[in-house]
Parts: sequence; structure tokens; C-alpha cells
Amino acid sequence: MSIEFIYPEFEVIRDQSRCIGCRVCQRQCANEVHSYDDDLKILKSDESKCVNCQRCVSMCPTRALKIVKSDCTLRENANWQNNTIKEIYKQANSGGVLLSSMGNPNPLPVYWDRILINASQVTNPPIDPLREPMETRVFLGKKPDKIERGKDGKLKCNLSPQLELSMPVMFSAMSYGSISYNAHESLARAAKELGIFYNTGEGGLHEDFYCYGDNTIVQVASGRFGVHEDYLKAGKGIEIKMGQGAKPGIGGHLPGTKIVGDVSRTRMIPEGSDAISPAPHHDIYSIEDLRQLVFSLKEATEYKKPVIVKVAAVHNIAAIASGIARSGADIIAIDGFRGGTGAAPTRIRDNVGIPIELALASVDQRLRDEGIRNNVSLVVGGSIRSASDVVKAIALGADACYIATAAVLAMGCHLCRTCQSGKCNWGIATQRPDLVKRLNPEIGSKRLVNLMNAWRHEIKELMGGMGINSIEALKGNRLMLRGVGLNDRELKILGISHAGE
Ligand code: SF4
Ligand code: SF4
Repeated sequence: MSIEFIYPEFEVIRDQSRCIGCRVCQRQCANEVHSYDDDLKILKSDESKCVNCQRCVSMCPTRALKIVKSDCTLRENANWQNNTIKEIYKQANSGGVLLSSMGNPNPLPVYWDRILINASQVTNPPIDPLREPMETRVFLGKKPDKIERGKDGKLKCNLSPQLELSMPVMFSAMSYGSISYNAHESLARAAKELGIFYNTGEGGLHEDFYCYGDNTIVQVASGRFGVHEDYLKAGKGIEIKMGQGAKPGIGGHLPGTKIVGDVSRTRMIPEGSDAISPAPHHDIYSIEDLRQLVFSLKEATEYKKPVIVKVAAVHNIAAIASGIARSGADIIAIDGFRGGTGAAPTRIRDNVGIPIELALASVDQRLRDEGIRNNVSLVVGGSIRSASDVVKAIALGADACYIATAAVLAMGCHLCRTCQSGKCNWGIATQRPDLVKRLNPEIGSKRLVNLMNAWRHEIKELMGGMGINSIEALKGNRLMLRGVGLNDRELKILGISHAGE
């Protein structure tokens, strides 16, 4: 059926004068790019299979390999670009929906990069984080509207259950199945060491990880895989996943090839069967229905766990968030359209949803306008790339951020964007035992801890520069932000002034 020839996207350049024929590249590549030619006694490359994961380049002991983007292109123009033409060819061959992974790569505005942070000078001096205490702790959950004291003058403390984080960042949902056992262990160990949380995603909780419960958020998604009473009680908080930034409006699909061994047991579904989460929860068609699930989960866990409702950032996100805040949920997690995924239909990933920056600003404002901002905490993700993105998100109104792509990068991901293939050469998005063991959980967790500690330092420096010494004082402090190159409409939605104003 194939009538076209598409020149490979990448070229493998092998410097034969450096190559010692050790065949490391051949052994390391799950995509079988490298092969040994017995007649010529040299290594060869089938570049059509290369996804540019950089595994062979990193492992080659003599730096003999280089992967470059091919400069052989189709006859593209401004309308019909190289990638668009190739996608047409692929669909004409397969008749199927195109699948992709990780976040939306299109050149749409990244508002974080068009927002700048203030610094104090002269009259409101900066704070030196090396010499003065800075509070990065945050508590997620409902807050009282006013402080009440008893007859004895003591504070009345009847707070709803809270999640305490040592810094305003958590690891976002990634299911066991979409990522490996060792990747999960790395996240769990790092969350425990850091005093933050990781999230099971919709794949259930492997029995080995119950010991990390105090740093775990357990997710309940539409497929309800692996959900049972002990699971709900195992985590410190429960997240109802209504939507995901990379694929708003649709469910999830983990192919049967990944439902093996422990993954099948943890999800409580037979080996080899596809794990398909429906687009809606079949018992939720209104805020009242959502409220029922929120309170069912609270009831099942004796009202000891805060309930998070996670939604994708879409057009009417402010109204949706207002409803969720009234549903009894303690925390709303909003996932922007750049959020990563293990697999999503390409068209959905690249065309549905809105930027998290605009969604966050409009939700925070709406909840303030309605006087219900303290009813919930706001957690945002998709995509938070650095400490400065975190600081900007907090100043726009978030209580904390979720990170996932940054976390997998810390564990070794090289963003080859082919997680859906199950052949992750870095041992993260795979269930193949020979690949899984490439990620050492001890090293993975250490690198995650390093990344978070580095961000914690940077967050303190940025706050200190503003003359602010706690996350609480930064929260919703939009005066600390200025836009550059944004139009009036964008500035109005973000609720910030333009640089120079
Ligand atoms: S890993 Fe490097 S040195 Fe070894 S065979 Fe491959 S290209 Fe040659
Ligand atoms: S997790 Fe693995 S497969 Fe996915 S983008 Fe990263 S390196 Fe590639």
C-alpha cells in the first residue's frame, strides 16, 4: 500500500575513524537502528528507525556517533509544511488516527516567557535568602475565611485535611504502565525525601509502593483501574481525574502490550487487554454528580483525605472551576494544553485546550470575584519548566505546581517523543525488563531531589529579590508581574500591567 518514500527525519553520522566496533550502540538501541555488517566488518545504521533519543550517542565510548536533523526536505511552503505532508502520507497508508506523546510542540505563545518578575530596590529592600529565613512550605486544602477564637482566646482549629508540601511543586500523575516500575520508584523515593507528593496516575498503586503512602496522591480516573478501599486509604490525598491537558475531552488508552505482569495485577485487569478509560466518568454528568463522587471518596476514607479534582484547561475553565469549588473538592488541579502524555491522538494534543497561564489567571479571578477562593487550593501544570515558571504561576494565583515532563527529563528522558512505542531507551516509558533496568531508581531519585533542591534555591532567590519571604505572600501578587509584547486583551485576562507601566 505504501507508495511514497519519506526520507528519514534524522541522520546517524558515524565517524569510522573513531568507531572501535564495540557494538554498544547496537545493544543499546531498542529501535534496532544499528546493525553489524559481517562482510564489511563495520556498523551500519537504518536511519528510518531512528527517533533521536540520543541513547547511542550518550553510550558510545569514543564519541563516534552524532545524530543530526536531516536537511533533505520535501518541497514545503508556508501552508504545506514538511510535517503536514508527512502526516498525510502516513494516514493515507494506515487509515488510522495519528498518535503522539509528550506535550504540544507547536509555536503557540508561551506566556511564561512574556511575563517578567519584579525586583525590589532602595525603599523596599530585597531579602538575602542565605541570611534570612524564607518560607517555601505550602498547605493545600480548604482554608477558613476568617480566624476564630474560642472563649479561652485560643485559636479554633477545625481545618479540613491539608497536604503539606516543603515547596510548592509536586510530581504530576504518571501511571504505572505508562511509565516503568523504576521510574515510579524514583518519583516515590524523591517525593519522600523532599517532603512533597507524587501521583499514581490512573494505573493503581503497586504493592511495593504502599510504604510511600504519606507522599502519594492516589488517582481515580474514569476507568477506575486499580481502585479499591485500601488503595484510597493508602495515599495522603485522592485525585479525581476529569481531564488532562494533552488530551482534553477524551479518555486514555494503554495498549494491551503494556498490560503485562505487575501492571495487569496493579490495574486489576487481565494481561494483554487494552486499558481503555472512557472519555467521561459514566456516573458524572453534572456538578451534583461530581459532588457525589467527592463525598463518596471522603466517606470511604473517613474524611481524612483532601480530594483533588483535575481538569484540562479549556474555554470555560473559570465556570468549571467555580462549580468544582462548590462540589466539596478541596483542591483543583488545572492542566494546560502543553501538558505531557504517554500517548495522545496528535490532532487532539495539538489543537484542543488553552494555555495554563490564561486558564490560571481567569480561574483565580473568578473564584475571588465569587468570594470562594479560600474554598479550594489551585494546582497548575502543563508545562512548568523552571523555578521562574513556578514563581510566575504562584504570583498569578496558584498555590502550587505539578511537573511531569521536567521530572522525566531529570530521570534521563531525552524528549524523543515516542513514549507511545513502549521502547523507551532510557527505561522510563517502557515495560520491557531489559529497558526498565537501565533506570536505576537510586540515581533517578537523586537526580529528582537535586532538581527540586535547585529550584527551591532559585525560588528563594527570586522571592528574596522581590522583597518577599514566603510563598503565601507571593500568592496572587500580580503586582510583581509585568507583560512584554502582549496585547491589551491578554494583559486583561492575565490581570497584569505591561512592562514600563
Ligand atoms: S558505540 Fe560507538 S564505538 Fe561502539 S560500535 Fe557504536 S559507534 Fe562504534
Ligand atoms: S520518556 Fe523515553 S520515550 Fe518518552 S520522550 Fe522521554 S526518552 Fe523518549
